[in-house]
Amino acid sequence: MQQDYDLIIAGGGLAGNCLALALKDTGLRMAIVEANTCEQLYASPAGDRALALAAGTVIVLDTLGIWKGISHAATAIKHIHISDRGHFGKTRLSAEKEHVEALGYVISARDIEAHVANLVRDAHIELICPARVVGLMSGENEVCASLKQGDESLNVSAKLFIGADGGSSSVRKLLDITQHTTEYGQTALVTTVRSTLPNKNTAFERFTASGPLALLPVAKNQCAVVWTRTNEDAEALMSGGEANFLTELQQCFGFRLGELSLSAPIRAFPLSLIRAEKMVAGRAVIIGNAVHQLHPVAGQGFNLGLRDVVQLAEMLIKQHERNKDIGAADFLKEYAVSRKQDHDWTIGFTDAVVKIFSNEWLTLAVARNAGLAFLDHVPAAKSFLTRHAMGLAGHMPRLGSNR
Ligand SMILES: Cc1cc2nc3c(=O)[nH]c(=O)nc-3n(C[C@H](O)[C@H](O)[C@H](O)COP(=O)(O)OP(=O)(O)OC[C@H]3O[C@@H](n4cnc5c(N)ncnc54)[C@H](O)[C@@H]3O)c2cc1C
Repeated sequence: MQQDYDLIIAGGGLAGNCLALALKDTGLRMAIVEANTCEQLYASPAGDRALALAAGTVIVLDTLGIWKGISHAATAIKHIHISDRGHFGKTRLSAEKEHVEALGYVISARDIEAHVANLVRDAHIELICPARVVGLMSGENEVCASLKQGDESLNVSAKLFIGADGGSSSVRKLLDITQHTTEYGQTALVTTVRSTLPNKNTAFERFTASGPLALLPVAKNQCAVVWTRTNEDAEALMSGGEANFLTELQQCFGFRLGELSLSAPIRAFPLSLIRAEKMVAGRAVIIGNAVHQLHPVAGQGFNLGLRDVVQLAEMLIKQHERNKDIGAADFLKEYAVSRKQDHDWTIGFTDAVVKIFSNEWLTLAVARNAGLAFLDHVPAAKSFLTRHAMGLAGHMPRLGSNR
C-alpha cells in the first residue's frame, strides 16, 4: 500500500517527537515511525539517565507546551560548582549573579520522554509503531521509505524524510552518510544517591584523574550521578558490588554533601563521539543524535538536538506558508548551513572538555587549573561561559510568532 505524507519522521525519541509537536498546527501531513512501543521505551534502563536542561532549552520546551507538564518533576540548578580533584582550581557559577531564576534544570529522561510521547498521542499525530525504517530511496519529487512492521512490509512516501533515530541511526546508514566516530574508551556510570547534607540546588562537576564526575540535584538530599570512567574501571566498578562502588564514589567526590548512599540501580553507558559528515542527502535530513552523539560531560546532547528541531521547524513553517517545496535541495542546504556553526562549537567544546579534563599531563593540569582560577576571578569571562552553558548565548533559534 502506498501512503503519502508531507513529511515522515523516523524516530519517536525526544528530537523526533518535539519536531512533530512543533509542527502539529501547520496542516502538514506527517507521520512518526518508531521502532519501539511506548511500554518498551518506558521500561528501558536508558530512561534512568538524568538530563540537565539548559535555560534556553526550557524556554523552547515552554513554547512548545511541554514544560508546564513536566516542570513539577524538574529540579532547578541555582549554582554550579566546578573543581579539579587534587588541584587548586575551582569555579562557581550562580543564577543570582546572572539575574536568572535558574542556570538550568535536571529531569529524568524517562519523565520528559514519556510526557512528550503522551503529547504526541493527544495531538493525534499519526504514529506507525512498532515499525522500523529498512529502506530509503530519494527521488526528484518524493522520498520513498520501506518499513518493517512485524512480518509485514509497508511502503510510504513523502516530500521530506527526517531521520531522528538516534546515535545508531539506520537512516544515516541508508542515506550513505559517512560517520566519524571518536572512541573515548570511557563509560558513563549513572545512578542516584542520597546525601546526609542538602545540595542547595547545586550541580557539582568534579574533574578527576580517573574521569569527570557530575552530581546533579534532583531533590533536597538527592543527586543524579554521571561518573565517567575508563571502560576497564567501569567494568570493575560494575562487577565489584554496590558497597565498593559507593566507597569509591565517596572517595572521589569527598564529603561536601556528607555521606552518600545509593538510591537507584547503577547503569552503564559506553561513550563515543559520533558526528555525521553531512546533515542532508536528497530529500532527507537527519537531526538530533542521528547527526551528533556527544559525550555527556557537558550535558549538551539533547540541548543541541532541540536547537536542530527549532531551526528546522521554523524554516519548515515558513516554507510551507509560502507554498514552497519542503524537500527542495536549496532549502535543505540552507538548513544545514544554519546549523553548522552551533554543531561545530558545541561538539568542539564538549570534545575539548573530555580531552583536557581527562588528562594528567602536568602542563594541561596547570593550564586547566589556571583557567578555572581565571574564571573564578574574572566576572565577564565567567558570565560568558555561563550564558553559553545556559544556551542563551545567541545560537538558540526561537520558534516564531505562530503559536
Ligand atoms: C548518560 C547520559 C547522560 C546524558 N546527559 C545529558 C544531559 O545532561 N543533557 C543533555 O542535553 N543531553 C544529555 N544526554 C544526551 C541525550 O540523552 C540525547 O542527546 C537525546 O536523548 C537524544 O535524543 P534523540 O531523539 O536524538 O535520539 P534517541 O533518544 O536515541 O531516539 C531515537 C528514537 O529512534 C528510534 N529508532 C531507532 N532506530 C529506528 C528505526 N530504524 N526506525 C524507526 N525508529 C527508530 C528509537 O527507538 C528511539 O526512540 C545524555 C546521554 C547519556 C547517555
